[in-house]
Amino acid sequence: MAKSGEGTLGWLRHRNRERVVEVMRERGRISQAEIARVTGLSRTTVHTLVSGLKDSGLVHEVEARVPDVRGGRPPVLLALRDSSLAVVGIDFGLSQVQVAVADLVHNLLAERRCDLDVDHHAKEALEAATRMVAEVLTEAGLERKSVIGAGIGIPAPVDSTRNTTGSSTILPGWTGLRIASDMRDRLGMPVEIENDANLGALAEMTWGAARECSNFAYIKAATGIGAGLVIDGRLLRGASGTAGEIGHTTLDESGALCYCGNRGCLETVASGPAIIQLVGLVDGEVPSLARIVELAIAGDLRCHRAISDAGREIGVAVAGLCNLMNPERVIVGGLLSRAGEVLLQPMRESIRRHTVQAAAEMLDVRPAMFVERAELLGAVALALHGSSERMTRAAGG
Ligand SMILES: [Zn+2]
Repeated sequence: MAKSGEGTLGWLRHRNRERVVEVMRERGRISQAEIARVTGLSRTTVHTLVSGLKDSGLVHEVEARVPDVRGGRPPVLLALRDSSLAVVGIDFGLSQVQVAVADLVHNLLAERRCDLDVDHHAKEALEAATRMVAEVLTEAGLERKSVIGAGIGIPAPVDSTRNTTGSSTILPGWTGLRIASDMRDRLGMPVEIENDANLGALAEMTWGAARECSNFAYIKAATGIGAGLVIDGRLLRGASGTAGEIGHTTLDESGALCYCGNRGCLETVASGPAIIQLVGLVDGEVPSLARIVELAIAGDLRCHRAISDAGREIGVAVAGLCNLMNPERVIVGGLLSRAGEVLLQPMRESIRRHTVQAAAEMLDVRPAMFVERAELLGAVALALHGSSERMTRAAGG
């Protein structure tokens, strides 16, 4: 929709200024050079805009946390000055609820977690999250009105049009629950909701292994297998929010029946439960996935083989993904990624074998920086990114 003044120099300067503020909110502490790279604006334009923002007191210079290793002066970084504002991140895992509050300069101010069977106790989970948000705000000395938004993660696809879970088989206890609007009413603040793999991608993009990447795939390999796809710096959500459901890629049409109703999905051979079943008893007991990962690293032949075979199978599905989206990096997270090269090496081989050469040549497959806290940090990042989008919209962008 055309607005008055659209396309004029003044309008353009306003748009660029909003874009610079948005990037600073997303990145926390950032140099002018990095702002230029992320926004695509020239260094001169960025310099002019930043000078204006400094003069108006919105932006100030901060010290880099890591000093220059060559012993030189640490680079000058910029941050938004208004640290009285904050965002909240909430992660509903399968067996726990986690909550964190962070300021707009990306300092985590307080965190809480509680163990809970989230699927079977959906209402209790929402109540626990609401209570913990109040607790972290008190601990951080913040009032509710200082919070500009909350990001929420759930371990299932999100149907953004109905703001509920988009699958009745992955988190059955939550079917029909209008999570976003329910939490918005409980918390009294804007909320955004996203699935766990997309949150992992957001956390890696904001603070982790994808910080300087615009096109990458984040693979969460744990109890389930999912992907968060970032194209040109934006999460790909798809028409109904199921983009990245790589765990249900068919590998064998006559393979084992999957809980999704299809046969031979990747998850029937490489998910946490599939690996546990394959390994069988260890010392007379059914081992946890975490235990199998430990044993694989320690050189247990059966556990090592089970995880490396899973890596090979995941690689076949990821290869298909690479042929379609041609990412520069594949970042592997989730509990299975704790196995390191036991998982990654067969995965790389499999990707190389099944990907067109041009896509495989430049591809960098590496482990994620965050595993246990990926979703919680991603929920915080979602709130930071979401608030930027809302601010830009409100500013008439
Ligand atoms: Zn399936």
